[in-house]
Amino acid sequence: MQGPDIREFHIGIDDTDSEKGGCTTYTATVLFQELFNRGLRPFDFPWLVRLNPNIPWKTRGNGALAVHFFVEEEQIEDVERVAIEIVEKTTVSSTRGTDPAVVFLRGKVPRALREYSTRALHDVLSAREARSVATSVGAEVHALMGVRGVIGSLAAIGAGLDAEEHTFEIIAYRVRENLGSPRRIDRESVKLMNAKYEDGTFNNLDPESGRVLVSPHGLDPVLLGIRGYSPQHVLSAFTEVKFCEQIERVMIFRTNQGTDAHLGKTRRAVDLKPHQSGILTGRVDDMPRVIRGGHVIFRLRDDSGLIDCAVYRPTGSLSTVARDLLPGDRVSVYGGVRGWREGTPTLNVEKLEVLNLVEKIEDVNPMCGGCGGRCESMGRGQGLRCKKCGERMEDAAKIQVRHERHLHPTIFIPPPRARRHLTKPDSRPRIMSNGCLRVEDFQLRAEDYN
Ligand SMILES: [Zn+2]
Repeated sequence: MQGPDIREFHIGIDDTDSEKGGCTTYTATVLFQELFNRGLRPFDFPWLVRLNPNIPWKTRGNGALAVHFFVEEEQIEDVERVAIEIVEKTTVSSTRGTDPAVVFLRGKVPRALREYSTRALHDVLSAREARSVATSVGAEVHALMGVRGVIGSLAAIGAGLDAEEHTFEIIAYRVRENLGSPRRIDRESVKLMNAKYEDGTFNNLDPESGRVLVSPHGLDPVLLGIRGYSPQHVLSAFTEVKFCEQIERVMIFRTNQGTDAHLGKTRRAVDLKPHQSGILTGRVDDMPRVIRGGHVIFRLRDDSGLIDCAVYRPTGSLSTVARDLLPGDRVSVYGGVRGWREGTPTLNVEKLEVLNLVEKIEDVNPMCGGCGGRCESMGRGQGLRCKKCGERMEDAAKIQVRHERHLHPTIFIPPPRARRHLTKPDSRPRIMSNGCLRVEDFQLRAEDYN
């Protein structure tokens, strides 16, 4: 049992990366491994917490990290010093504003912090509020430059991933010398891995384009990441991949990726605010139109008002579905508020649920009773005339023809290449793999994979 002077210690980290490189998951990995190697006992995997993806100034997936250890009172000072040093050492800043922050919290996570974290998934929060929440829950804040990183650091600690729906990701990191060069991974081995572990992992490949999705392309140190439903799944899948470059380190994260955690809030058109995420339900109000670039726009009316829904072309099959909607169809749209156009908010649709379809009925002129040719209208109240034989039918009127709809009521999600980190890959019920996992058993040594 724990002595009275040993307690949970949580470290939240955010914003140590920029377009010039770095990755907050890398910072957390270095910190986790350093503390682990010093003999501290983790009480969970590090958490990779994706926050509201619809915040425009967070262009790289808006992820924050938290690590959790059992720490003795007299070790705390050392642990804090190590954490700040590692954050400073691994931050790659840029002029566009990198605001690395570390937050420390001793003891159990208070409910107020859990609630704050939930809001960070759906809303836009201020750094000022983050400061006051930190004070009220007794968290210690170290903002190394600006204060924006404090929001994510606090939210990461409060994410409660051990109790909420979650998945896992195993990430391998590159050695420094290789940063910036093309990643050398045997693509065939990734395809074989996907075939073998299709049920336990997700988003490895994009079936529509054949693209391999496990490797990024930027200056960051991530060599590859495999997402899946348990630590065992991602680890087994990882061992199938053949690497043609050196791995510096490997870590398994518990994460809210692939859970739709940001889409849990039902909203009304009239209440929407910029950059919020959520779900709206209503009827399609006009004929969807395809605008320049191949994006589809349609209006949705709920019981409070109107919104414009934008389904962007890169969402592939999702934009095809949107094009086939008709006025009167009842749908739920999932996504984030982009902005306002002529007083109407525009929702960037990430997911579309068709609830009810109207019948597609077209009014057409009937065929001629004499020769079978198509009739044409003579003008208002004038009846019809056969285009072929000229026969006039003064009392005839248009007839209604019912067309088949190519949609059916179901949830439509974009192909893997166009998904958000948080997008749930399918609608299967998810296993919660807490069981008797020992985090210590999943600490991997890079040399075993090189
Ligand atoms: Zn005719």
